[in-house]
Amino acid sequence: MKCDLCGSPMNEQMVTYTIQLDEKLMVVEHVPAKVCDQCGERLYSPETVERLQKTVWEQRSPSRVLQTPVFDFAAK
Ligand SMILES: [Zn+2]
Repeated sequence: MKCDLCGSPMNEQMVTYTIQLDEKLMVVEHVPAKVCDQCGERLYSPETVERLQKTVWEQRSPSRVLQTPVFDFAAK
């Protein structure tokens, strides 16, 4: 399996998936993905994407809740 963007080999890894919904940042840990060694591009299988969407939309019983500092890179 090669990366669509740079053509480097991709390896199966466990990653942390994050998505922002309104003011809430959702984090899903231990998600299987193919990750590019070179540019970090991630590919998820259709089954994984489906489960991620379900997990994020249902939002029930997270395994833990994080406090997340937010920085503004454009702020001086
Ligand atoms: Zn790549």
